[in-house]
Amino acid sequence: MPELPEVETVRRGLSPVLEGRVIARAQVNRPDLRWPFPEGMADRLTGARVIRLGRRSKYLLADLDTGETLIWHLGMSGRVLVSGQILGEFVHAHPAPEKHDHVVLDIEGGARITFNDPRRFGAMDLIATDRLETHRLLAGLGPEPLGNAFDEPYLVARLRGRMTPIKAALLDQHVVAGLGNIYVCEALHRAGISPKRQAGRIAAPRAARLVPVIRDVLAEAIEAGGSSLRDYRRTDGELGYFQHAFRAYGRAGAPCPTPGCPGTIGRLVQSGRSTFYCPRCQR
Ligand SMILES: [Zn+2]
Repeated sequence: MPELPEVETVRRGLSPVLEGRVIARAQVNRPDLRWPFPEGMADRLTGARVIRLGRRSKYLLADLDTGETLIWHLGMSGRVLVSGQILGEFVHAHPAPEKHDHVVLDIEGGARITFNDPRRFGAMDLIATDRLETHRLLAGLGPEPLGNAFDEPYLVARLRGRMTPIKAALLDQHVVAGLGNIYVCEALHRAGISPKRQAGRIAAPRAARLVPVIRDVLAEAIEAGGSSLRDYRRTDGELGYFQHAFRAYGRAGAPCPTPGCPGTIGRLVQSGRSTFYCPRCQR
């Protein structure tokens, strides 16, 4: 499941291919992914110029000069391939069409963007740009974790009085947008806060510390994604997935990497999802 840093990596890889360019042809090979595509999507995309490629939470947002914005979610298994465009020193030839190539965008100048999504949990929708914030997928989202609205007083206030475990509170998209299981585990480990701790019972200074920690964890992953982007350009033009060294996530049984901590990373299940944490230094 791509998390925010992976989506941001895809955005950064796509923006030089898309921004300022016209979609010469949009090919939509099935009526739906997770939900039906909007009516006439191929026609509404064909001929449109992409003004800006942004991101909100885990959604890519392509503002078009037609007054609409394309909302694009990569789903669980979605892959984005860029071909026919000079990326760094390399040009990737257009690959042979594959079975799960559901949407193919030919961009003026010769680039092609292919969205392949075998499990079809991805989504695309179009909405008038001036009504974007009212879209059902975006309305009610909390602040961006890397944005200015997500600051210490905000988080302390949002956690106050909450009876849920801190892990669940940070996964709540109304509290902060775009955080998923992996980076919540990493942030709690780095902040030394137990994932089981009741959110409302964390002292304000410790809760506040989560803000810079979350920003750091995400920024480092985006940085790693940036390096992988350069590598991927050398391999096959695929964007978005990269190896990243985690301190807690996926490391059950390994020694805790916190300096001086003799603990071992453990695993527990919360709300059906695996939590990785150190029972010694996370309190
Ligand atoms: Zn530890």
